[in-house]
Amino acid sequence: MVKTPDGSPLIGQLHIIDDRESGTKGVIAIHSTALGPAAGGCRTWDYASPEAMATDAIRLARGMSYKNALAGLPFGGGKAVLQRPAAGIDRKAVMRAFAAAVEQLHGSYVTAEDVGTTVADMELVARHTRYVAGLDRPAGMAGGDPSPWTALGVFLSMQAASRLVLGSDVRGLTVLVQGLGNVGSRLCDLLHNAGARLVVTDLDAERARGVACRYGATLLPADEILAADGDIFAPCALGAVLTPQGVGTLKVGLVCGGANNQLLGDEDGLALLERGIAYCPDYVVNAGGIINVACEYLGESVGSVQRRIDLIGERLVGILSKSRQEQRPSNLVADEMAAALIRSSQRAAA
Ligand code: NAD
Repeated sequence: MVKTPDGSPLIGQLHIIDDRESGTKGVIAIHSTALGPAAGGCRTWDYASPEAMATDAIRLARGMSYKNALAGLPFGGGKAVLQRPAAGIDRKAVMRAFAAAVEQLHGSYVTAEDVGTTVADMELVARHTRYVAGLDRPAGMAGGDPSPWTALGVFLSMQAASRLVLGSDVRGLTVLVQGLGNVGSRLCDLLHNAGARLVVTDLDAERARGVACRYGATLLPADEILAADGDIFAPCALGAVLTPQGVGTLKVGLVCGGANNQLLGDEDGLALLERGIAYCPDYVVNAGGIINVACEYLGESVGSVQRRIDLIGERLVGILSKSRQEQRPSNLVADEMAAALIRSSQRAAA
């Protein structure tokens, strides 16, 4: 049984995938189905052991429960992880085996693409189960690439948080953007159009130069972005960038970005609060992508995706205001709000 931060139990299930014929090894973790089917993508990665795979799946599934709850979606949280198929392994067969495992859960878990899987993989999965999203859809309907929606949600969140914390929207402010991939580059576009000054970095030098040139941004080496002068830090690369050391070097007043799992540990949220830096919980602001995926699964339109994303900023302001009033870390405030939403739905169903 999986527990919430306040110790109350949620429905927790682990389903092991071990298909000898195709060589597929993996885990589907369902953290909660209180608000609806457990939704969350399928990740492939090089895991050192079955335990490492299960631990990652459980951690990611909990994150999806909270993200879906605070995004106002009628979905619980789950996640699938698969051992990355070795060279020579038939990917079609792996996706077929994965789809069979999803199908056996009869819709209590809904999958989509994540790190290491693509729309093409989900098209393969969709041949064998209908409990999948993240597929191409006709114009006007939700679906396809979630990244533009993730970037839009981060941008709207940043505007709302900036008004609350820094006293103005991003026009004329300096935003440090770390990571210029699918989400970061689109965020730069929105910020540039809104009149923000950009300081950017990416490990991929060519990509970084391209973005800097397009938006007249200042380009920094990757190891200088955290300590750079600016108003807002937008982590849009990998997770765990907000370490005790990283938090100590920040000069900004606000952190708001698209990367998942930005805090190394919960205590780094407290360190940010103590330094007077407002932290926008990652899973609240980067929910645009899962909103698009969820709307696709529900057969909703692009307009519905937009309406749901428009609500993220308001929700974030509620979390940041409560964090400020109570002098408690915003990541804990968000976790508690999400857990409360899930619990109240469990009570209503009982
Ligand atoms: P991406 O792979 O397209 O881009 C990531 C970029 O970060 C790459 O250009 C990479 O070179 C760069 N990078 C990696 N480490 C770096 C470092 N230390 N310093 C500077 N640059 C670095 O990924 P993405 O789809 O843009 O996703 C970015 C983040 O947002 C990830 O954490 C992802 O989990 C999260 N996220 C993405 C979505 C989505 O819709 N794509 C949704 C929710 C969350």
